[in-house]
Amino acid sequence: MGPPGAGKGTQGDRLAERCRIPKYATGDLLRDAVRLDSPLGREARRYMDSGELVPDDVVLGLVCEALESPVARKGFILDGFPRTQVQAVGLQALLEEKGLELDAVVFFDVPEEESVRRLTGRRVCPGCGAVYRVQTNAPAAADTCDKCGGRPEMREDDREEIVSSRLRVYRESTQPLVEWYGRSSTSLLELAAVGSVDEVYDKLLSAVGCS
Ligand code: ADP
Ligand code: AMP
Repeated sequence: MGPPGAGKGTQGDRLAERCRIPKYATGDLLRDAVRLDSPLGREARRYMDSGELVPDDVVLGLVCEALESPVARKGFILDGFPRTQVQAVGLQALLEEKGLELDAVVFFDVPEEESVRRLTGRRVCPGCGAVYRVQTNAPAAADTCDKCGGRPEMREDDREEIVSSRLRVYRESTQPLVEWYGRSSTSLLELAAVGSVDEVYDKLLSAVGCS
């Protein structure tokens, strides 16, 4: 958990690869549905474009489906979910049904101005999904993806005015949930998610007890 741009996806991918378990990011699952132009995708898009949260039942349905996958049997990482109390309670019910418990909730803490800087500086290649950062990791040839020659672009919801909405939604709906986990029996690991990607990864590994 953590505000948009805190690095959850970046670090979650690395940890998932290291632990050889799948990572389910509700944002990615929703963007897939949008790309497929499914009825669910068309409904979700209305909320995503404005930085609002997609309705809880839609998101819970996607997570429920993902956790049915045989590859999730050895464990999984959830990224960007839960984001509301209803989702957290829904997740608990889903896990109970499967006889599972969360090992930990990891909270990525970054100042808002860093979130804004990271998100407005992100460019994604529509061809291969490669992610660039204009400040530190731009493609070698301006506007051309190093991997596939595509044209990296800004995510629609990374525009500054939408990022402001996403941060407001985070403060209102998700931040209280972090505090809720802090009071629950689930282990809440707090990470100062600033510094380089490698530095944050080292902090994450030690927080989750991977040597
Ligand atoms: P989240 O999943 O929390 O929204 P992402 O992992 O998608 O965040 O990262 C958002 C942007 O910030 C991406 O462009 C990513 O490359 C960049 N980023 C992630 N971690 C760092 C970091 N430690 N320093 C600088 N940029 C970062
Ligand atoms: P993300 O990729 O995590 O930044 O999410 C992008 C957008 O997808 C968000 O701004 C929401 O509109 C939507 N979204 C992702 N995850 C959730 C969730 N758990 N609950 C509701 N909406 C979500």
